[in-house]
Amino acid sequence: MKNYMVRVISNALNVLGLACVTTDLVSEACRLHGTSATASAALGRALTGGALMASLLKDGQRLALKFEADGPLKKIIVEADSSGAVRGFVGVPDVDVPLKEGKLDVAGAVGRNGFLTVIKDIGLKELYNGIVQLRTGAIAEDIAFYFTESEQIPSAVGLGVFVEPMGDISAAGGFLIQTLPPSDESVVDKLVTRLEGMPPVTQNLRSGKTPEDMLEIIFEGIPYHILEKRELFLKCTCSRERIERVLISLGKKDIADMIAAQGEAEVDCEFCRTRYHFNRAELEQLLQEMGEVSENGDR
Ligand SMILES: [Zn+2]
Repeated sequence: MKNYMVRVISNALNVLGLACVTTDLVSEACRLHGTSATASAALGRALTGGALMASLLKDGQRLALKFEADGPLKKIIVEADSSGAVRGFVGVPDVDVPLKEGKLDVAGAVGRNGFLTVIKDIGLKELYNGIVQLRTGAIAEDIAFYFTESEQIPSAVGLGVFVEPMGDISAAGGFLIQTLPPSDESVVDKLVTRLEGMPPVTQNLRSGKTPEDMLEIIFEGIPYHILEKRELFLKCTCSRERIERVLISLGKKDIADMIAAQGEAEVDCEFCRTRYHFNRAELEQLLQEMGEVSENGDR
């Protein structure tokens, strides 16, 4: 279990803590998308944040995060589910943003004027939809603000991705701490002090600390126990059938135009870059199926 999340709760049941290591899955995603250093840090933080948030879901539930703002990265999309699977992409993978005080400027790449949208599929007819304005564009603060503002759960989030000078990811991970009612002021004070004094997530990971170690540091003086340990991994859910549905959603005219212009179609999955090819016969088959669908609908 190389990439995993640990979830703990205080014995008084009023503080929930999650911490994870995601170095391998972030590396894999960044290789797949050919991201620049700043885009790698942004995508890695969002993937890690999404994986932590999905760890709070029940079996079979999933969620999507969308960061969209006025920065040159344009957007970050992440999807994650309760099984530990996560996938994502950014709008402009080769974004080039100057360093800020010697550090990768994720907030500068994302932009500050924009929104974080969280969509949850918790198995009901309607999707749950929460939207907040971005606080900093640095991802962790925005997710914490989302929880506090939209779900009314006071939360602290730390996310980190260490990008080596040659672009390799040598550490990625994060934590999510939530206080639950009845809130205990002295416990909250302890947590705030602890979190403020804590070295960055990547520094912890690079010095050999595990997610369990990070939680031990954060929960010092607060008795707690481990609830669960869960593997996290990069996985796309695309398939030829899903891509066919995307083509069908374009409408008959667009497909007919494709047949006339190129005689074929190529569709790339935005999440994993898999290329799906449709030849003339396959496109004509789709067109025919669509004809049948609308004829049936008319009856
Ligand atoms: Zn895919």
